[in-house]
Amino acid sequence: MKALFKMAPRPGALEIRDVPRPLPGADEIVVDVAGASICGSDLHIAHWDPMAQWTTTPVIMGHEFGGIVRDVGSAITAFKPGDAVAAESVIWCGRCPRCREGKTNVCDERRLLGLHVPGGLAEAVAVPERLLHHLPAGMPVEHAALGEPATVALHAVLLQPPHPGDVVLVTGPGPIGLLAGRIALAFGARVLISGTPADASKRLPAAKELGLEPLDAGVPLQEAIQSPVDLVLESSGAGAALDAALHVVKRGGGITLIGMPSQTIGLDLAQALRAEIALRASYFGTWHDFDRALWLIADGTIPAERILSPYSLDNALTAFEDAGAQRVLKPLVRP
Ligand SMILES: [Zn+2]
Ligand SMILES: [Zn+2]
Repeated sequence: MKALFKMAPRPGALEIRDVPRPLPGADEIVVDVAGASICGSDLHIAHWDPMAQWTTTPVIMGHEFGGIVRDVGSAITAFKPGDAVAAESVIWCGRCPRCREGKTNVCDERRLLGLHVPGGLAEAVAVPERLLHHLPAGMPVEHAALGEPATVALHAVLLQPPHPGDVVLVTGPGPIGLLAGRIALAFGARVLISGTPADASKRLPAAKELGLEPLDAGVPLQEAIQSPVDLVLESSGAGAALDAALHVVKRGGGITLIGMPSQTIGLDLAQALRAEIALRASYFGTWHDFDRALWLIADGTIPAERILSPYSLDNALTAFEDAGAQRVLKPLVRP
């Protein structure tokens, strides 16, 4: 079968190679991939940015995918060939104290599909049964690729949920910011979204089509925001956005950190303390978040067809280029 590999620990080194199809271990399921999406962290792996350097190469990439069950291991009872499924990306152990308290997203032993074990940018992938979810009835199977990023967005929103009528600011209109904004809308909030001038051609107009209210990317955030917002969903990982967030959120408001910073960020913590701002970091999501995120995709709260742009596996490198140049919101590779 064909698969997209990160071959070596250096920038580039992406290759489509022919490898044998995986066979399921006793507690594994082999999924024929219907669609695998590419996200910002995949671009970091491609560029070999510092934050991505815990990837072990060579590895088949892809941690956001869905497909159809093909082969099941001898111990599998809950899935059968033909089932439509999506897979979580964090391989949690189920045994450590974190897993036992339900925080599988911060499992002590966690590894990731597509970074540490073969992922879904391939015709087929073997996945531990405990990471798989059945799709809600009627949901197009390739939309399942959004299950993982929608889980990241939903987990973050649920940590500090907005109330109906709240004004929420999303900083960073990348895919996770757009998904988090859509979920905040579903809570009954009004959702503003900010970006940089680079976001003005594609991402901010897309945000508007999704019902969010883009702010002028040419105006500093503190000028663009007239009155303090109730909650900020920081989805950029940029120090400047977090600093601005501290100054536009209301006293007693919340900032949820979703975007992964690429470097250490200096912070005006005195501002956060004086205003008693709740800073809450969010990382991936849990089994329950994933199940609920699939529901949000199935019911259209997250409109997958407006976010995903299809590519063939042979054109996966073009998909990476287009994502990097922000020509599309999120590529969906269909093997
Ligand atoms: Zn991702
Ligand atoms: Zn664990």
